[in-house]
Amino acid sequence: MATASMKKPSSAIPMVWQRPALSDMREVVAFCPKCKTLEMLLFEDGYLVRTRKFSQNIDGHVYHDCGSEQPCRLYRAF
Ligand SMILES: [Zn+2]
Repeated sequence: MATASMKKPSSAIPMVWQRPALSDMREVVAFCPKCKTLEMLLFEDGYLVRTRKFSQNIDGHVYHDCGSEQPCRLYRAF
């Protein structure tokens, strides 16, 4: 007498909603090599969202307004 009760795995797969690619917003941590400032910055479509202390050069590098001639190092924030 077999009383094996097999539970059927649920076939309901949760829907994964993908956000429309209107804009690619990502958080980036900027590290200033001169004054060692670490700050979270926001990029939209690869461009720095306007902040008070940081500015983006034409070449894409981000500079701190402390007068550093070296661009900030950028790290992906997860
Ligand atoms: Zn700095």
